[in-house]
Amino acid sequence: MAVTEGAGGVAREAAVPAVLGGSPAFPEGLPLTRVRVPDRDELARRFDAILDSGQLTDGGTVRALEEAAAAMLDVPHVVAVSSCTSGLMLALQALGVAGRRVVMPSFTFSATAHAAHWAGGEPVFAEIAPDTLTLDPAAATAAAGPGTGALMATHVYGTPCDVEGLRAVADARGVPLLYDAAHAFGSRRGGVPVGGFGAAEVFSLSPTKVVVAAEGGLVATRDAALAERIRLGRGYGNPGDYDCLFPGLNARMSELHAALALVSLRTLPQRVAHRGALAAAFAARIAGLPGVRLPALAKGDTSTWKDLTLIVDPTAFGCDVPRLAEALRAEGIDSRRYFHPAVHTQKAYARTGEPVRLPVTEEMAERVLTVPLWSHMDEPTILRVADAVARIQEHATKL
Ligand SMILES: *Cc1c(COP(=O)(O)O)cnc(C)c1O
Repeated sequence: MAVTEGAGGVAREAAVPAVLGGSPAFPEGLPLTRVRVPDRDELARRFDAILDSGQLTDGGTVRALEEAAAAMLDVPHVVAVSSCTSGLMLALQALGVAGRRVVMPSFTFSATAHAAHWAGGEPVFAEIAPDTLTLDPAAATAAAGPGTGALMATHVYGTPCDVEGLRAVADARGVPLLYDAAHAFGSRRGGVPVGGFGAAEVFSLSPTKVVVAAEGGLVATRDAALAERIRLGRGYGNPGDYDCLFPGLNARMSELHAALALVSLRTLPQRVAHRGALAAAFAARIAGLPGVRLPALAKGDTSTWKDLTLIVDPTAFGCDVPRLAEALRAEGIDSRRYFHPAVHTQKAYARTGEPVRLPVTEEMAERVLTVPLWSHMDEPTILRVADAVARIQEHATKL
């Protein structure tokens, strides 16, 4: 059956999904993410200047990036590092988690837990709130028993955590709070930029994130001593005289990566605003569709919408996530199960000790499906994705 194209290329409801023989919404295919570096000319100029200078790592461009990021995040200290993972490792090492428990969500990217492991800590997984998919303060309280060295929370998909609730838990337990802010450069909690909450917040600049340096990370903190320690830690722990103060890493950022990040940062506010508008258009289009919702954003909060993730109730929707993903693939629409499997059920963590049961996390991991969204996508495209989801839902029980 032919799909009728309405104004703006929007397929009409009556059509049959491609998986049942209809024409695909995107015959040319729609990838999950598309990276675009905004200003190539400026980037080329910056690369030339760096190559001419002969200083290829940890120089003036890295410092300029740190200053620009600190100004945007409204924090006094930003330390650029080679990745979010290395930034988390160094921050956790500095917070002294070695030999202690690090309470964190399991509904996150594996690197959150890996960083705690590499810092000598023991990841202890706690439940998320089912509406926002971020760490539940009550569950964190229950998990943060004796021997806890830190709390760690992830602003999942760019949705700000319940920072007030988590701060209360950390204060009551007398432990530091660290944020995995990999998705959240540009997110705001009640108007306040994510970046200044907790002891430190760590951003990722890898290609699937919203600010891109090819590879890289940024540690933001209000604590001058912590910033200094991470600065030392990214260069082996060497204060300059090769008499290392502690076992550090090579976690430096190169000047070339910093140049990319600086160019990427310049247009971030417009990109975040555009992603928010696309997410809102998508949400409006799927409103009322049974069995599918987006993560809840508190009133007054801003998300980067690093990922546009559907939460699917298979009973109400009519089919489960793997079937939906297959039907989307037939439409030409790429999708990914972020974050499935939950970290505590991955081979790296499942084999140790008593099996951990996290019913909310396990159920949500079964229910999530991330669909394409990128910063230069246009609105007709995101509406075509929404219409494809609606078409699939209408026929879901026949899949
Ligand atoms: C991507 C990601 C990381 C790792 O970032 P890198 O810069 O690749 O080290 C950590 N945590 C979360 C939640 C992520 O999505």
